[in-house]
Amino acid sequence: MENKNKSEKNCPCGRIITDPKNKTGLCPKCQKTGVNIGGALGVAGIVFLVKKNGGKIIKSTFDVVKNIKKF
Ligand SMILES: [Zn+2]
Repeated sequence: MENKNKSEKNCPCGRIITDPKNKTGLCPKCQKTGVNIGGALGVAGIVFLVKKNGGKIIKSTFDVVKNIKKF
């Protein structure tokens, strides 16, 4: 009886994931947040590279940031 919903997964935020094809273990809302966090980490990485390279590629970096924000 306890394992009635064995195939059901729970997102860390507490939502039940109803999509059986979901492989991330996150609800759609948290997936979106995860993408945003990934984008932020990408930006942090770019900023780090820019600092390392003396800001020579800073202009192209801003273009990348714009694209990430669109996303
Ligand atoms: Zn969630």
